[in-house]
Amino acid sequence: MNFKLSTDQLDIKNAVKEWAEKEFTKEIALECDKNEQFPHELHKMAAELGFIGIHFPEKYGGGGFGTLENSLYVEEICQADSGLGIALSLSDLASEVILNNGSEMLKQKCIPRVANGESISAIALTEPEHGSDITKMDTTAVKSGDQWEINGCKTLISNCGIADFYIVLCQTDTTIMPSYRAQSLFLVDADTDGLETTMFKDKLGCRASPTGELSFCNLRVPEENLIGELNKGFYQTMSFFNQSRIEIAAQGVGIAQGAFVRAFYYAKERKTFGKSITEFQAVSHKLADMAIKIESARLLTYKAAWLVDNGQTDPAISSMAKAHAGRVAVEVTDEAIQTLGGAGYLAENEVERFYRDAKITEIYEGTREIQKNTIVRFLLKRGIKN
Ligand SMILES: Cc1cc2nc3c(=O)[nH]c(=O)nc-3n(C[C@H](O)[C@H](O)[C@H](O)COP(=O)(O)OP(=O)(O)OC[C@H]3O[C@@H](n4cnc5c(N)ncnc54)[C@H](O)[C@@H]3O)c2cc1C
Repeated sequence: MNFKLSTDQLDIKNAVKEWAEKEFTKEIALECDKNEQFPHELHKMAAELGFIGIHFPEKYGGGGFGTLENSLYVEEICQADSGLGIALSLSDLASEVILNNGSEMLKQKCIPRVANGESISAIALTEPEHGSDITKMDTTAVKSGDQWEINGCKTLISNCGIADFYIVLCQTDTTIMPSYRAQSLFLVDADTDGLETTMFKDKLGCRASPTGELSFCNLRVPEENLIGELNKGFYQTMSFFNQSRIEIAAQGVGIAQGAFVRAFYYAKERKTFGKSITEFQAVSHKLADMAIKIESARLLTYKAAWLVDNGQTDPAISSMAKAHAGRVAVEVTDEAIQTLGGAGYLAENEVERFYRDAKITEIYEGTREIQKNTIVRFLLKRGIKN
């Protein structure tokens, strides 16, 4: 067993860190958070530097690296700033669905443009009546000649309004039971007639990443926009989650580390009762607990990524990484505010934003409860092994 990152991995980590620390200024972070604005300029820069789609094959304009290198990238940008980091990390959301299942035509059409920053991708699973439970969709796609006609509504969709295309989970047959055996994924270009978007405003956190609702009214897509096999959409989505949950775990690790670093240096400088607050055990143990939690979440995240990259994808480990890193992000950012005292409550001291941003990592791509259901389901199926 070797816990050492390779030279390439360290180079990626350092390059992202150097760039993000220079470009993610406090002013930009505060502005994007306050105005709920996506950081388009930083997105372009990240693409030019080869960070977007670092895990896509080189053939499609990616960096040719794996899930672990993508996790290092996501961790570093989220550490530099939780809000900007989340927004950038979601800019290529679900492109993996096309890479893993799409036709060569769809891959060539979509993936290089996402990697070079010309396109932003999005995935639309959640509906007003179906969030955690996506085994049945109210959004339908019905074959009409050589096209599919889509009707329905998707809600809480990241990159809504800025995405160039959406990957949409539809019910393609309402007679087949169980219903998840009759779902398919379609590529819907953002400028297709029959698509309307409505934005949500005033979110708690991840405010630089737009969220909204999509409605489809007699929207038509050609047969070639069906992603992979008909009626395999549910399975393709579950397989995508095994990868995407690791990315969300990496967001959690980065957010926790970013808040911890800020709290740590503040504590070293802050004096009360004539001495540094790190000399009070109540504070120093808090810092130690934060460091322990982050390290355990990081190890689990890297392990989950390593398993994917080595052809041993383990849905239980991916869910463990997400559930643990999400909880750690929420707990550590809470303690970071506590360490700063009143100063922690002010936007200018940043941990306030990290605290608000952390929560989403326990909700999207499956809530904490859904991760735990997945973990136990797999443990029951395959038995408990070390
Ligand atoms: C900012 C943001 C961005 C998002 N981006 C996207 C996106 O890009 N694409 C997309 O498709 N969706 C997206 N979502 C939606 C997100 O994935 C869902 O909100 C999430 O899956 C939970 O679904 P729900 O909100 O319908 O909650 P519900 O399913 O109604 O759950 C409510 C509560 O009940 C619990 N619960 C439900 N079922 C069970 C169960 N079986 N066992 C135990 N507990 C259970 C849940 O854990 C939760 O605590 C986003 C959400 C947010 C807030």
